[in-house]
Amino acid sequence: TMSCLTAIDAADGLNAFVHKTPDIALDQARAADARIAAGGAPSLCGIPLGIKDLFATKGVPTQAASNILKGFKPEYESTVTTKLFGDGAVMLGKLNMDEFAMGSSNESACYGPVVSPWKVDSRQLTPGGSSGGSAAAVAADLCLAATGTDTGGSIRQPAAFTGIVGIKPTYGRVSRWGIVAFASSLDQAGPMTKSVRDAAIFLGSMAGHDPKDSTSADLAVPDFEAALTGDIRGKKIGIPREYRLDGIPAEIDALWQKGIEMMRDAGAEIVDISLPHTKYALPAYYVVAPAEASSNLARYDGVRYGHRATLAQGDGITEMYEKTRAEGFGAEVQRRVMVGTYVLSAGFYDAYYNRARKVRALIKRDFELAFAAGIDAILTPATPSSAFGLGEMASADPVEMYLNDVFTVTVNLAGLPGVSVPVGLDAKGLPLGLQLIGKPWEEGDLLNHAYVLE
Ligand code: GLN
Repeated sequence: TMSCLTAIDAADGLNAFVHKTPDIALDQARAADARIAAGGAPSLCGIPLGIKDLFATKGVPTQAASNILKGFKPEYESTVTTKLFGDGAVMLGKLNMDEFAMGSSNESACYGPVVSPWKVDSRQLTPGGSSGGSAAAVAADLCLAATGTDTGGSIRQPAAFTGIVGIKPTYGRVSRWGIVAFASSLDQAGPMTKSVRDAAIFLGSMAGHDPKDSTSADLAVPDFEAALTGDIRGKKIGIPREYRLDGIPAEIDALWQKGIEMMRDAGAEIVDISLPHTKYALPAYYVVAPAEASSNLARYDGVRYGHRATLAQGDGITEMYEKTRAEGFGAEVQRRVMVGTYVLSAGFYDAYYNRARKVRALIKRDFELAFAAGIDAILTPATPSSAFGLGEMASADPVEMYLNDVFTVTVNLAGLPGVSVPVGLDAKGLPLGLQLIGKPWEEGDLLNHAYVLE
């Protein structure tokens, strides 16, 4: 814990930790020492972690990287952090992220962007997003692991950009209680770690039924670490042809091929499969996610939490809402709220939202058919490129940024577990990741496949 706290102070330039909690960390570390001395210490005893700013931490600023939550200190602790601390983990502080987890570069944060510890000729790169602070902090050894959340790729894409492991569990595996909501039917929390084994241990602590989240599954949590045998002989690995996109860099194709060879060498059978509705995933996601976001973000009204605008003489409640939300939300969040409100509006509900829901069901069915045909895991690239430069994607066209999620959003729409594993470097020396997609509730088996790629 002490060496992490020192490293965090020395790495202020990365802008990964936005609220440091050294006093809490040292208290928790001392308590962990005592538990270890007493014997029988739990799995994460004394392990120093960073916590994404989206998780409510009692008495500690929790802002979802938004000005609208400025100064918000929850009175309660999220289920995930409660579980982690119960297993002896130590909180070093809160980690930077895209505002309300909307973004793929961590550039929409009210705290300013995170700088990746990876560089090309001193050019500053994004660590990815929205869990960019988590990825940068783990990759730079500021903490042993971090929490992330993933609505459309926010664990897997930053993990791939920074050379670490990140798993989005099956929807319902990890409680969402006390995590600031973005798109409730897609959001899942998961670990971002240095290794597959760490991910298995960390996920074991985070997972489990929670009566406070009605979508949390009432299922036992298996021993994910025990599943890491490295034996995938006879397993069938699906390679979906729709993920071979035109214009994808040759390096990504080569990386994919390398992953295929690694799995084949380990005794798995490689099978070409088809997931025919893949091409509709991004548009469906960018209807469903903003729709749910516009509903979830209605609660930021200047009354209940955080920021309230200074009002002028004669301003009424409408002006208070308008001014507060105009000042408190950044541009990307405002864009999502507008899109979401539009697709849910009476005149357009059937044309957009209902249609996106139908497409979502078809995407889910594509995966169900593949697994029913005997496929054990699906291997794809995690991202369409390595990390891009800070400011590079901040163009007038937000769709360019959205295209980054092309390989990851299908997994959230289908509610499946997905893991990103670092598999190599590109010609510039930057990390690249592959994604494995697994069957629902089979995170142990999925991590075992990832273990072979590590
Ligand atoms: N980049 C995607 C988005 O902006 C995914 C974000 C996430 O997974 N939280 O919506």
